[in-house]
Amino acid sequence: LATTPADDAAPAGTVELPPYDRAGIRTGIVHLGVGGFHRAHQALAVDELLRRGEAREWGICGVGLMSGDAAMRDALRPQDGLYTLVTKHADGGLEARVVGSIVDYLFAPDDPEAVLERLAHPDTRIVSLTITEGGYNFDQVTGEFDVTAPAVVADARPGAVPTTVFGYVVEALARRRARGVPPFTVMSCDNVQGNGAKARAVFAAFAALRDPELGAWVHNAVAFPNSMVDRITPVTTDADRALVRDRFGVEDRWPVVAEPFFQWVLEDDFPQGRPPLEHAGVQLVADVEPYELMKLRLLNVSHQALAYLGWLSGYRYAHEAVADPLLARFVRDYMDEATPTLRPVPGVDLGEYKATLVERFGNPEVADTLARLCAETSDRIPKWLVPLVRERLRAGGGVTRSAAIVASWARYAEGTDEQGEPIAVVDRLADVLVARARSQRDGDPLAFLRDPALFGDLVDEPRFTGPYLDALGSLHRSGAQATLRTLTGA
Ligand code: NAD
Repeated sequence: LATTPADDAAPAGTVELPPYDRAGIRTGIVHLGVGGFHRAHQALAVDELLRRGEAREWGICGVGLMSGDAAMRDALRPQDGLYTLVTKHADGGLEARVVGSIVDYLFAPDDPEAVLERLAHPDTRIVSLTITEGGYNFDQVTGEFDVTAPAVVADARPGAVPTTVFGYVVEALARRRARGVPPFTVMSCDNVQGNGAKARAVFAAFAALRDPELGAWVHNAVAFPNSMVDRITPVTTDADRALVRDRFGVEDRWPVVAEPFFQWVLEDDFPQGRPPLEHAGVQLVADVEPYELMKLRLLNVSHQALAYLGWLSGYRYAHEAVADPLLARFVRDYMDEATPTLRPVPGVDLGEYKATLVERFGNPEVADTLARLCAETSDRIPKWLVPLVRERLRAGGGVTRSAAIVASWARYAEGTDEQGEPIAVVDRLADVLVARARSQRDGDPLAFLRDPALFGDLVDEPRFTGPYLDALGSLHRSGAQATLRTLTGA
């Protein structure tokens, strides 16, 4: 990282540099999928411990598996893994800190064997993941690992050079097992419900493709703690790079910006040890589920509630959308609809949590884009909202707001906004979704729901399709703002 005197025009901000000696930090964690979130969250917690003189055997080796990760290699390598994390407060206040916990970075396509041996090394005791929801490769409705994905089929062949997360992790575990090295703990930090249990299921299913006995061993001998992670981390922009240069005098190829809020609730299941994360504000608990349900259903789905209706209303940022009283009311109403599906959350006042969420969404400095929240919906709504709808229906509860959120996605997926401007639908299923959404205008208003892989049998459930069709019809006839007025009774 090159630091230069800050621009005279803007008073120099202070950057906190790592006050600890980075030489001699051992690599105890290998992290797969180093993006914005890992660098704003988990790497920060380890940095915090290093600053306290702790966790010197828990340095992080970042690994990128996807071709797009070459950009992270090219950013981090010349900076020795250092990068600037800027915390943006709602009042415009900024704090910057250089994080030193990522002590190495490997881009897997450069040298797959180097990654496998790093994973198999006895010093590696935790392998953590932020590989996005799609990275887990399971069917949204059945929850089963998709054994037909071509990259998975290729990685399961004997002697394959891996390309997928499954190929790498399972080959490394097999090597450790053959060498008598205890397995590392696999720590998922993705927004996937029951992320540890899901990781266990998919990695064991992949291992069973190679050898059923290996599959059983992965299932039984490897720890996969569940976690709930929370910190809004938008995509870094050129304006952020300029801010870091001009305000803090740091020339950083890829800084990270995030909101002040930080939450990490982690199941304490680490047979090979772990860093003393409780000293860095992490809650270590026996059961993460109540916390994650609260977060997925209140934070993540509320983002979905803002995203499409916000976009169709003409907003482009989350803070703009939530500043619209109709959208703010709708989000609060949705949260009230979702709340009966939550379990008691020890130590959390739900009323306060919900109010804090609306405040967090309103932080203009974070400038979280609706485009980010509108992306990859087919990995989000089916996983986060559809199970909630089923629970509400089972319990005899109403689903008006949930159905309206799904309808707003269906309207957005038509790929044209209310002014006739194109919408870039970013989704691995975009082609299919757009085609289906467009056909809902041609005599089959339920067309979008006719995908059992995304919605199961919701299309046959009148208690859902009723409010869904009301919302979709209203979006077609009158637009997002009028629909919000009807929904909120404004
Ligand atoms: P990002 O795009 O900056 O980074 C994603 C990383 O995952 C990249 O390194 C990418 O190559 C890798 N990846 C994607 N698909 C993969 C696959 N199939 N196999 C292996 N690696 C894959 O995104 P981010 O902001 O860092 O978010 C990553 C994940 O972290 C999210 O999907 C979510 O599950 C979790 N998360 C993010 C936030 C946030 O606010 N950004 C908050 C909480 C949780």
